[in-house]
Amino acid sequence: MAAILKRNIPFGRPMIGDEERRAVMDVLSGPILVHGPRSQAFEKAFAAWTGAPHAVSVSSCTAAMHLLYFSWKYGPGDEVIVPAQTHAATAHAVELVGAKPVFVDAERSTGNIDLAAVEQAVTERTRAIAVVHYLGVAVDMHRINRIAKAHELKVLEDCALAIGTRFHGQHAGLMGDAGCFSFYPVKHMTTAEGGVIVTREAALATRLSRQKAFGVDRHQGERAVPGVYDVTMLGFNYRMNEIEAAIGIEQVKRLDDILVRRERNYRTLRGALAQFSELTLFDEPAPPNISSRYCLSVMLNNKLAERRYEIVAALNERGVGTSVYYPRAVPHMTYYAEKYGYSKGSFPNAAWISATTIALPVGPHLQEEDMVYIGEAFKEVLGKAA
Ligand SMILES: *Cc1c(COP(=O)(O)O)cnc(C)c1O
Repeated sequence: MAAILKRNIPFGRPMIGDEERRAVMDVLSGPILVHGPRSQAFEKAFAAWTGAPHAVSVSSCTAAMHLLYFSWKYGPGDEVIVPAQTHAATAHAVELVGAKPVFVDAERSTGNIDLAAVEQAVTERTRAIAVVHYLGVAVDMHRINRIAKAHELKVLEDCALAIGTRFHGQHAGLMGDAGCFSFYPVKHMTTAEGGVIVTREAALATRLSRQKAFGVDRHQGERAVPGVYDVTMLGFNYRMNEIEAAIGIEQVKRLDDILVRRERNYRTLRGALAQFSELTLFDEPAPPNISSRYCLSVMLNNKLAERRYEIVAALNERGVGTSVYYPRAVPHMTYYAEKYGYSKGSFPNAAWISATTIALPVGPHLQEEDMVYIGEAFKEVLGKAA
């Protein structure tokens, strides 16, 4: 048996340096752990980086989406169109307010929501369309906005994988009514747990900043007498704390560099994988659109797909970390399949992606040599002579 190549290539690893460690220690050395200046400074920094008029920090992307639907007063009888090929959180946020997620299949060429099918899914109960920029490639927001305008719908952009994604020059999250980002550790940047909402609408930003903190009428710094406030609306505790915000401020400074590294790694890996006729890759975004390069997902062709977990194990054995985005179409997850009775044959494109895909790492913790190595590991695993 040939000697197995070996390297350590984790799928994701947060880029935490001395700057983040120092920033956290500064917070812990002071008296303010929540409701402080850092969450506001973080909002300013993220807004400046994306070009957003307003940014509201929250405790996660899931909280961000729940808060928006709550703020828009959706409930039983309302429908929100969501992609079948996404994280469960995209649909959960709709369920959490008692509304119904109406799933739409993916297009095979990008994994993004099928725009022709979106139009057909609109009913008189539809209130909004949620789009996900899948793996960092922008949905055609011109078409989404045309459909939304024709039917008077709101548009929520789930940008959990889309920091750095641009559509005709605009950053993801700024083309719909609101954009929601995630700072979970394997995403483009992290605050451990955390999220942010960007919007062009000042009144919405103000309302969200109240509703994420119990619906109080004024923030800590605005109170004439400390501890004295009124509650004018229902709200959650969905705040980002000062420790998370302090990490976030440092992470935003790294974003330009992170995206350059991701682009370089993606290009090298795509080049290394081009030789394998056994693999299908998604289309590249059409210029001038820019992908955030979350990962490089490959689909295994035909019979090979049945051996996916064997191939994953062989890659992992060679030190190549992998993931699956996403392991099942959301309507095929047990909770949704049982509640709404979706059959296995529904959403064939999302099901095909989920059943055949392997996500490969291109994160900033990796070098070009790692990408070349992944190509060599594939050659071995697929049983090819060098
Ligand atoms: C990771 C992810 C989420 C959830 O983000 P959290 O910050 O963990 O709540 C939502 N949507 C998509 C598309 C994701 O990939």
